[in-house]
Amino acid sequence: MFTIEGICDWCKKPSLLTKHDYLDGKSHLSCKECNDLATLDVRQYNLGELERREREEG
Ligand SMILES: [Zn+2]
Repeated sequence: MFTIEGICDWCKKPSLLTKHDYLDGKSHLSCKECNDLATLDVRQYNLGELERREREEG
């Protein structure tokens, strides 16, 4: 799962990373240590994005 070498978008340290996809097509990379936080962050973002879309459509 953590197969991408690079800089973690959360702690900014070089590490092995996994990808987190956002609803709007963006993605960020997190290391193992930040994965829980990153998962929460992305979920919050995606929920907010869904709500925004619903408001705009309705
Ligand atoms: Zn990190």
